[in-house]
Amino acid sequence: MDAPSRPAMPAPRDLPSVDRVLATPAGQQAVEAFGRAPATQAIRAALDEVRACLLAGKLVAVPAPDHVALAATETLERDARAHVRPVFNLTGTVLHTNLGRALLAEEAVEAATAAMRSAVALEYDLATGTRGERDDHVRELLIELTGAEDATVVNNNAAAVLLVLNTLGLGREAIVSRGELIEIGGAFRMPDIMARAGVKLVEVGTTNRTHPRDYAGALNDATGLVLKVHTSNYRIEGFTREVSARELADIAHAKGVPLVNDLGSGTLFDLARLGLAHEPTVREAVAEEADLVTFSGDKLLGGPQTGFIVGRADLIAAINRNPMKRALRVDKIRLAALEATLRLYRDPDRLAARLPTLRLLARTRADIAARAHELAEPLAAALGEDFDIEIVDCVSQIGSGALPLETLPSAGFAIRPAAEASGGRLNALAAALRALPVPVIGRIAEGALILDLRCLEDEQGFHDSLAHVGGPG
Ligand SMILES: *Cc1c(COP(=O)(O)O)cnc(C)c1O
Repeated sequence: MDAPSRPAMPAPRDLPSVDRVLATPAGQQAVEAFGRAPATQAIRAALDEVRACLLAGKLVAVPAPDHVALAATETLERDARAHVRPVFNLTGTVLHTNLGRALLAEEAVEAATAAMRSAVALEYDLATGTRGERDDHVRELLIELTGAEDATVVNNNAAAVLLVLNTLGLGREAIVSRGELIEIGGAFRMPDIMARAGVKLVEVGTTNRTHPRDYAGALNDATGLVLKVHTSNYRIEGFTREVSARELADIAHAKGVPLVNDLGSGTLFDLARLGLAHEPTVREAVAEEADLVTFSGDKLLGGPQTGFIVGRADLIAAINRNPMKRALRVDKIRLAALEATLRLYRDPDRLAARLPTLRLLARTRADIAARAHELAEPLAAALGEDFDIEIVDCVSQIGSGALPLETLPSAGFAIRPAAEASGGRLNALAAALRALPVPVIGRIAEGALILDLRCLEDEQGFHDSLAHVGGPG
């Protein structure tokens, strides 16, 4: 029989059944890997897609059952990739809030993993066999490292600020300089937090200048606290006047009112040791006689997301009695990681090597540039002739509002489209890098995709990842 010169257009009725696709070797593998229900669902979706293409006249043949199974498997594999998964942070921002901030030290990772796998003596005193306090695991360390009388830990620094305001200021007034009414990002604005904490905000001074007399004039019987906020993410320069924490402590204490200093990032380590500008340490803030100091666990401190309140024992006791504390507490996994992180601070000489945040901040441009030279060729080979790659000086940032004007000399790549520039090509490349099994996140500036290598420690992993550029997907 002679085949007709033109086959009849394929029709949906020619499609294989779901069962037939499931029975193919690829279908069976999909069932094995993902389970019968997800595999069936993916095959059904793949068949629906083929049916739509057939009806639209976009297909000249009905795909074989194993092809449908393979298409379904691809979908299943894509869906199975975790959403919260590692990426290469080549943005040049070491503490990138959108990329999860601090990387934990190995010691912290091990402690957290162990705590995940087993029961831990979280609120249990092993010496006496009676109930213990969950904060006690890090309390002594925090006291030792900050010089404060007492300490407590909550979910993050935003929670620490909220809890302090609510404990000291519910139904009362909190005095804050207009120059410090910050928004940290997202919905965390100091005036809004005050309102939610049930505290009446009393603004004093002006945006650029606040004087001791402004605070003194606002203090009255209804004052619950004076709040000083470390101005994160920006700096007011020029004709300015700020009242130091030390001066402010005297002013507040003369009226018997506590001073709270929200340090934001805060650090337990003098960054000047790394050649950076001096960021006030928590110990200094405590020594300046703030009654309470709040700071973050996953910014410069380099630990898990947590917030700390350190200071006067009677105020910490009041905070621990506040029912909100229970809603803001930290789980065992983070407490374990935190304890391990804080222990590293007992040995400051080796801290910068063991704590990733400080290690990354300490890297020199020369060191980073040397890595760039090693990776330039593989990168050029992976991107092909469509892109020009240049090794360039970069300027990294600490991020998360710490030392906002401090920049770190770094190195990396500037990637530009080779032919007549088209921004679309660059965006497509950035998207392709984000679609890699381990996504690469850079930033686009001045017609180039910039990859700052400061935070790249796994060069082999990056090198291996390049093999997937231009691959499927
Ligand atoms: C970052 C920051 C906070 C919030 O800390 P999180 O740990 O992110 O909740 C609060 N106050 C200041 C001044 C900050 O910089």
